[in-house]
Amino acid sequence: MDYNVNEEGFYGRFGGAYVPEILYANVENLRKAYRKIMEEPDFRAEFDKLLRDYVGRPSPLYRAGRLSEKYGTNIFLKREDLNHTGAHKINNAIGQVLLARRMGKTRIIAETGAGQHGVATATVCALMNMECVVYMGETDVRRQKLNVQKMEMLGAKVVPVTTGNKTLKDATNEAIRDWCCNPRDTYYVIGSTVGPHPYPDMVARFQSVISQEIKKQLQHEIGRDYPDYLIACVGGGSNAAGTFFHYLNEERVHLIAAEAAGKGIDSGESAATIHLGREGIIHGSRTLVMQTEDGQIIEPYSISAGLDYPGIGPLHANLAKLGRAQVMAITDEEALQAAFELTELEGIIPALESAHALAVLNKKQFKKEDVVVLTVSGRGDKDMETYIRFFQKREE
Ligand SMILES: *Cc1c(COP(=O)(O)O)cnc(C)c1O
Repeated sequence: MDYNVNEEGFYGRFGGAYVPEILYANVENLRKAYRKIMEEPDFRAEFDKLLRDYVGRPSPLYRAGRLSEKYGTNIFLKREDLNHTGAHKINNAIGQVLLARRMGKTRIIAETGAGQHGVATATVCALMNMECVVYMGETDVRRQKLNVQKMEMLGAKVVPVTTGNKTLKDATNEAIRDWCCNPRDTYYVIGSTVGPHPYPDMVARFQSVISQEIKKQLQHEIGRDYPDYLIACVGGGSNAAGTFFHYLNEERVHLIAAEAAGKGIDSGESAATIHLGREGIIHGSRTLVMQTEDGQIIEPYSISAGLDYPGIGPLHANLAKLGRAQVMAITDEEALQAAFELTELEGIIPALESAHALAVLNKKQFKKEDVVVLTVSGRGDKDMETYIRFFQKREE
């Protein structure tokens, strides 16, 4: 079984490129170019150098002693939280902006929900002296003031989107509209393993530096290059794709994906797309979608802004469908508990998204000799207000 994308851009029944006529040429040009450019030795060299000197890679693989003791197993944390800008998203942003430059593009557009992908993209555009426009729902602009200010300081133009619910979905539509109008000079940076082919595969490949490093680091730490378990959270699925990538076809490695159950799978306030979704098309890709009987998208909910997406990358839909990955739905409450546990035991304040992966430790039984690698996708600075509120409630 091969779990990678096939020639036509599909993972089993999922994926593909369902784009309007007007976008066809853009997507097709990218499809023809991406593998070729990514495999050029001087592209590779430039990407690797920036990952090392600018992002600070390799990110450490840290054996979490007290956490391991608590769960009676061997837990290693892959520390994407230590990257420049505080999460894994920068790996992909650097890759795509470099690629855009090689394709002769001079203008970068992106959409952002919570602002994390927008900040990563604006950062790389400052570094590479590229024009940068970020579309963001007006509601999110209000909710995520600090990230908007960061993007502006970095020289990006943030465009508030006032259509629909004024959130991520509407910002995405606006970015697509822009791309249609400016196909010649503009490149659209997507922040996760979603969208039409080749985006999911391209983003997975840029993020695959994570599992490439895990292999080397495990070899050095434990004398074999694979763990028994890999655990990561999934929003669109990019940090999980990067964590799993070099182990996808290695069946002895168990893959666990943590999605956001919000207030509970059956509460009506959830973002557990793999548990609740039905097949449909979202943002140019056939995948699982949270939708009503007649195909209207259901607004997702999670305490974590990075996980409340109503779709899921086609790679993960396929892994779940085939039983290659186990998918666990983690509630807000479980994620918050896990964030405080990591902070108390290891002195690491994780992003709320990453806390969903951490909560798996409490729900799954591991053997003493198991080796568990868990990706901490980002740091918790951006979530401090939520943590403080929870902390105060706990103290009462
Ligand atoms: C955006 C984000 C995620 C979710 O995105 P994926 O593409 O599923 O990785 C997870 N963790 C952090 C810290 C994020 O910023």
